[in-house]
Formats: sequence, structure tokens, C-alpha cells
Amino acid sequence: MQKLSQDTICIQGGWQPKNGEPRILPIYQSTTFQYDTSDYMGKLFDLEVNGYFYTRLQNPTCDTVASKICALEGGVGAVLTSSGQAATFLALFNICGAGDHIISSATIYGGSSNLMTVTMKKMGVEVTLVDPDASEEELEKEFRPNTKAVFGETIANPSLVVLDIEKFARLAHRHGVPLIVDNTFATPINCRPFEWGADIVTHSTTKYMDGHAAAVGGCIVDSGNFDWEANKERFPGLTTPDDSYHGIIYTERFGKMAYTMKATAQLMRDLGTCQSPQNAFLLNLGLETLHLRMPRHCENAQKVAEYLLTRDEVAWVNYPGLPDNKYHALAEKYMPNGTCGVISFGLKGGKEVAVRFMDHLKLGAIVTHVADARTSVLHPASHTHRQLNEEQLIEAGVQPDLIRFSVGIEGANDIIADIDQALAASKA
Ligand code: PLP
Repeated sequence: MQKLSQDTICIQGGWQPKNGEPRILPIYQSTTFQYDTSDYMGKLFDLEVNGYFYTRLQNPTCDTVASKICALEGGVGAVLTSSGQAATFLALFNICGAGDHIISSATIYGGSSNLMTVTMKKMGVEVTLVDPDASEEELEKEFRPNTKAVFGETIANPSLVVLDIEKFARLAHRHGVPLIVDNTFATPINCRPFEWGADIVTHSTTKYMDGHAAAVGGCIVDSGNFDWEANKERFPGLTTPDDSYHGIIYTERFGKMAYTMKATAQLMRDLGTCQSPQNAFLLNLGLETLHLRMPRHCENAQKVAEYLLTRDEVAWVNYPGLPDNKYHALAEKYMPNGTCGVISFGLKGGKEVAVRFMDHLKLGAIVTHVADARTSVLHPASHTHRQLNEEQLIEAGVQPDLIRFSVGIEGANDIIADIDQALAASKA
């Protein structure tokens, strides 16, 4: 069959029913799977044969949805996780541990920077947060002999900084480490990071992929392109025997699937951050319309951003789709069909006016969530990033007055009318 378009993969990727099987992906609502002989079950536990034995490691519903996301990203293997946070953690922890170091763009989701700078630090992993716009020469200086990965977000939440993927991939590869990119905001409909040199992609599937605020989830996709063996000493977890599986060496046994198999067989087994089959089913329904929703999100966001520019009350507007935006050129290069539906802006009068404005919105709801079919709004300095001080906020690309406005797929005129009335009401 010819190479399928993203549109077709969204609808028909993953589940391939055989004669007489359900047309729709079934929910394998079973913790466990039965076998005729104990010998066969033993082989499963030794990773000698492929098969399901316990949903904490693998489940057919989850695997089928993972394979759809894998196809959308153009990878070789994918794992669904319980959340985006779990995806970020597992993607990193699969190749680093105590005594190791990672480099991450400073402009990432607050939860991800917390994970790295607080929780992973407690585990002995050090992170250096870097300015994504720094020159290659400056970034070079941050690499250490124990650096294991470089991390960034395609479009950062909420600063909307667009990552120069090629620059970061070049740097990472020069130092023998993979580039891991969180592609949550762009989704593979708008950007395919592997085509620009990224090695591993993560997602909070909770966002556009689900799209309906119904199921928390995450996904890790491996491009299969990073050569772990060529950097053997740096990645002993993949290239030396795993005692917990009678000494198998992931790269030898699984080749290009080494990273995915280790994440599944070892990290899922030990940490249990699996996605539930129910959530995977809901995620799959969301994925079936991702290719229709993303263009509409972008179209609506562009209209809202352009409208905000016309309003006196608005101090600044940040959306990579605006021609004079700092990241417009990078967005055009990596996401020519559009970026995402999230915009950010500030109102004259700062935080107090921002909070009043948000309280007066009728269609737009104040929610933690972002990247949803419904218009959603949040003040990161008061909510998602409230643990950061002013200096850290600026470093993360979050001005204290920043309103994160996640434009939904309602009628653009209705969203604009809602903003209009909220601006008027917040003047008092
Ligand atoms: N990555 C990005 C870009 C996010 O925006 C989020 C959450 O907002 C996460 C990861 C974490 O995902 P989850 O909330 O599914 O754990």
C-alpha cells in the first residue's frame, strides 16, 4: 500500500481488524492474559517471545493506540504512559540515572522543569536549563562528560517559544546524546520532529491528541535513529546486561526497538506508569479527528491574535503565527501549516486586570487544562507556574502578566465576542 497521509492514519491507523473482528478498537479491559503452558509464560517473562501477560507492562488496546501515534510521528516504537509527566520522566530516566546530567531548554512546561530541577535532582540527576535562543557556541559549553540527553518543547507551554530543532539536534549529536522533544502543542499534524533530527518525541496526550479533556495520558515515541551502540559507555542501561532479565542486552536483542523495549519491560514493570485501556480508547477517539481539529485551532487562534492586536487594552500579544513574532520564521520552517491554538497576551494594568478579565469570560473557562476543543484560559503566574519566583518566571519565558489563552474550535466570532465583552467588563 502507498504511504498513508496523516489524515488517513488518524482515522485508520493502529487497529487493523481481521475478518469478523470489531470495526472499532475494542477495550481489552483485562489486567492479565492466559496461556496454555507455564513454559510459554516463562518465555514471556524472559522476553524470549512477544506477547501480553500483564497490563502494567503492555495491553493490546494501549499498544494499538501507541502504534497509531508512532505512525503519525514516523517512529519505530511507542509506549503510552499514564500522563505527559510520566512520558517526560520515563523518556529521560530510560537513559539516565544518579550521577548523570541533562540539558533542557529553560522555556518548558512548569511541571517538566519541576520534575527535572526538583524531583530528578533528588534522584541524583542534574539539569542545566539553557536559553533556547543561545548560540551553538554558548550551548556547547553546557555539555559535560556525563550529559545523557538534551530536552526541549517544539512549541513551549506557555511562552510559545519555537525550538530550533535542527540546532539542538546538531548539538546533541555532536556530543553523542539524543535530542528528546516534547511535541504536545504542535502535534504530529503540524510538526514531525524526527524529520528535523530529534531522536525521541514525548507527548502529553491529555492535550490536543485527546482534545476533549476526557483522559489524562502520555506517549513516548522512538525514531529508532539514535545509535546507542556507537555511544556504548554513555548508555550502559541499553548496551550492557540487564540483570533483572537474566542479562539480556537491549541493543543486542532488540536492535532499533531497544529504547522502547527497555521503557516497556523495565520501567513500566518497575514504575507502573501505564495508561489504562479505557483512557487509551478515549485517546483513540480523539486522535480520529486530530487532523481536522488542529487546522481549526490554528485558524481560530490566528483570528483571535489579530483581533487582540487591534485592542487598546492589550499590552502585547504573543503568537508565532503573527508575522512580526520573534519565532515566526522558525514556525514557518518547522510548522508551515500552523503551530497550535494557544496564544498568550498581556493586558495594560497587569495582573489585576488579567484576573478580572478572566473572571468575566463566559465561553472561555478558567481551567488548568490547555489545548482542548473548548476555549480555556489560565494565568500561569497564579496557577501552573505559581511555585516559581519572578526571576524564574522570566527565565521560563512567563511574564507575570501573561494570560494563556487556549483557543478552542468554537466559532471564532463567538470567541472574539466573548473577549470583547470581558475586556469591557474588566475596565471597571
Ligand atoms: N508537556 C507539556 C507541553 C504540557 O503542557 C504538559 C501539561 O500541561 C505536560 C507535558 C504534562 O502532561 P500531563 O498533564 O498529561 O501530565
